[in-house]
Amino acid sequence: LADRLQGTIKKITGKGKVSEQDVKEMTREVRLALLEADVNFKVVKDLIKRIKERAIGQDVLEGLNPGQQVIKVVKEELTDLMGGEQSKIAVANKPPTVIMMVGLQGAGKTTTTGKLANNLRKNYNRNPMLVAADVYRPAAINQLETLGKQLDMPVFSQGTDANPVDIAKQAIEQAKEDHRDYVIIDTAGRLHVDEGLMDELQQIKDTVNPDEIFLVVDAMTGQDAVNVAESFDDQLDISGVVLTKLDGDTRGGAALSIKAVTGKPIKFAGMGEKLDQLEAFHPDRMASRILGMGDVLSLIEKAETQVDEKKAKEMEQKMRDMSFTFEDFLEQMSQVRNMGPLDEIMNMMPGANKMKGMKNMQLDEKQIDHVEAIIQSMTKEERVDPNIMNASRKKRIAKGSGTSVAQVNRLLKQFNEMKKMMKQMMGGKKGKKKGGLNL
Ligand code: GDP
Ligand code: MG
Repeated sequence: LADRLQGTIKKITGKGKVSEQDVKEMTREVRLALLEADVNFKVVKDLIKRIKERAIGQDVLEGLNPGQQVIKVVKEELTDLMGGEQSKIAVANKPPTVIMMVGLQGAGKTTTTGKLANNLRKNYNRNPMLVAADVYRPAAINQLETLGKQLDMPVFSQGTDANPVDIAKQAIEQAKEDHRDYVIIDTAGRLHVDEGLMDELQQIKDTVNPDEIFLVVDAMTGQDAVNVAESFDDQLDISGVVLTKLDGDTRGGAALSIKAVTGKPIKFAGMGEKLDQLEAFHPDRMASRILGMGDVLSLIEKAETQVDEKKAKEMEQKMRDMSFTFEDFLEQMSQVRNMGPLDEIMNMMPGANKMKGMKNMQLDEKQIDHVEAIIQSMTKEERVDPNIMNASRKKRIAKGSGTSVAQVNRLLKQFNEMKKMMKQMMGGKKGKKKGGLNL
């Protein structure tokens, strides 16, 4: 999606108002890209309609170009489509809380059972019991038992001869006796949705009355995952979806359509085979990912709330005419810091990885602390005109900031280089960058 959109964005950059034609062009690309990403046709149609309504005729927000602005609308709509953040797990009034895992074979039920148990213990200090109710394949029971060993958690199993409904019922009795507060039932899957499977799951549900029914679907299967979700939800009234193998899926079609089609939220995302690779599902992050923009938008949003526009403009002017001083630098740094931890900010910027590798551009927090301390130890005079710096001044600053003269010298040198660079950047790409963000 990214490539297509970038081209269109470029075309409409630098205008003051978003025109109908701009939006048409953008939405055409968005539509194609979404269909290509295997998003449900009807979902795409509704989405495009809403985007058009919202985007046409908007004045361009200060700091955003029209392309970015349309993207912002697209992103918000995609986020809405996937629902709010919903990674909570039910807690039963009377323990144990019962969670039933359902889904097709190979979707990741057994793995996710282990992951969830791991999360519940790690994040909430709970003591889950795992239940092997997939009796059709001995390997399935072994797999869960292996996970139980890895996690050092009990696995309730009665081999392959018992009936899954009885297993589930007895497991809950056992959990009560053992004071286990969560019971996670790993059920059998089939290659396709079939009546036999649904009947069995329905019986388990009726018997144990679970607090949650999580449907596990494989993100790589795209539109199929959505159909599967629809069938399971019709039959079992699931409470949420776990979307697995998102580490391998770059298209995101399944993620986009599931909530729209079933009304049920995606609660968790599987990001790998390991037990700690289950994450809360963040619709906004997924939307950015689908749009292929890193987290550019959250960076824009952060910048909007944190950076004072007027100050930023002043700063930009200063950079341009080289009157930028250490005083300004200090202020700039504190503004950037207000936006969050530096490495996080860096990661959100496109091309950040390349930049990190660059010499003199390594931004670790500790180094920044030193820089800040050094500048704070300067007198006002020194900050404005570093040229007056001599050996004794440097020594005093080093002492005051708990650094060395060599570090002070390095900063002075870097500051000069930076000023030169800023001048070039500002001269070359007039107004393209936001003042407060020119790291
Ligand atoms: P089940 O048949 O539904 O119980 O599926 P399994 O839990 O046995 O998982 C099937 C395969 O998918 C296994 O090889 C898992 O390691 C793998 N798997 C499960 N979840 C994920 C995930 O989030 N990412 C990746 N890459 N693989 C996963
Ligand atoms: Mg399994």
